[in-house]
Amino acid sequence: MRHINIPIFIPHKGCPNDCVFCNQRTISGTQTLDIASVPAEIERKLALLPPAEKYVELAYFGGSFTGIPREDMRFLLGIVRRLKKEGRIDAARVSTRPDCVTPEIAKELKDAGVSTVELGVQSMSDRVLFACRRGHTAADTVRAFEVLHNAGLATVGQMMIGLPSSAREDEVYTARMICELGALGARIYPLAVLRHTELARMAVRGEFAPLPLEEAISRAADALDVFVERGVPVLRIGLCASDELFSEDGIACGEYSPAMGELVMGELYKRRICKAIDSQGMGTENKKLLAAVPPGAISKVAGHKGRVRRALAEKYGFSDIKFVEDDRLVGYDCAVKIIL
Ligand code: SF4
Repeated sequence: MRHINIPIFIPHKGCPNDCVFCNQRTISGTQTLDIASVPAEIERKLALLPPAEKYVELAYFGGSFTGIPREDMRFLLGIVRRLKKEGRIDAARVSTRPDCVTPEIAKELKDAGVSTVELGVQSMSDRVLFACRRGHTAADTVRAFEVLHNAGLATVGQMMIGLPSSAREDEVYTARMICELGALGARIYPLAVLRHTELARMAVRGEFAPLPLEEAISRAADALDVFVERGVPVLRIGLCASDELFSEDGIACGEYSPAMGELVMGELYKRRICKAIDSQGMGTENKKLLAAVPPGAISKVAGHKGRVRRALAEKYGFSDIKFVEDDRLVGYDCAVKIIL
């Protein structure tokens, strides 16, 4: 059955914090949210859905859903309750920050029909959280996962790559912890330095330098590798960007690609192909490569604008590279089988 998300962005609304990297208004492309307009927006999006059989999930994304004024949260949860009762949505998810989760709030979400909470983990290093002025600690994140699971809610962990003071090892550790804390999914966000953020000002003052694109890709691939190895689906890599994100008002400095997901996925495939080739001792005398990948993965393996193919040709001297789909690899994310 086709899974369709109805995303409603709640930009920065009610968030008591000001993380150095955050400008929710830029990310969502929405300046403010008029709470009373939400039911009509949902109705408009529901009316556009195809008539075929589908699984519809309402998603309140953006700021910190459980940190908004309680009457607003209850108003939005009331919509979830009604739409589920009417059989017009099948599920609902919200995103929030770890220190805005209490047992009472978790129960309220569950009772209203929310099934999944996406937690903005960002990092499991207290040093990094402090440098980002997140206003909470890794212990708050551990507790939030526990509270949500105790209430019967599923969780997704969102993490960032390239935050101030963060090293590759911190990010691998964060990905491992998200798995260990029982998340059923993850999102990986390489950092984008947005205008009108403290981070942009830090960059101007020389207190912070964004990662070069290649390093951001490589570090995000390390995190992706952890999730793939542990069977935790990665729902997204890179910002779900509005047009504004790539306008003059969006990114302040540093390199950021709108194709981040493809680039990171391609990097992991490339590593796996190289490992398989090296372990088979194919050497450079074989000028042709034929590799099997899971169904639907060929474009991901080839990489954004063919960069994986190019890298393999350069490294091993292949003159002919072919990828074929193999049904036996269904369900094995990023699996590669060298045939020739
Ligand atoms: S908690 Fe979330 S919404 Fe609030 S400032 Fe930080 S990133 Fe932005």
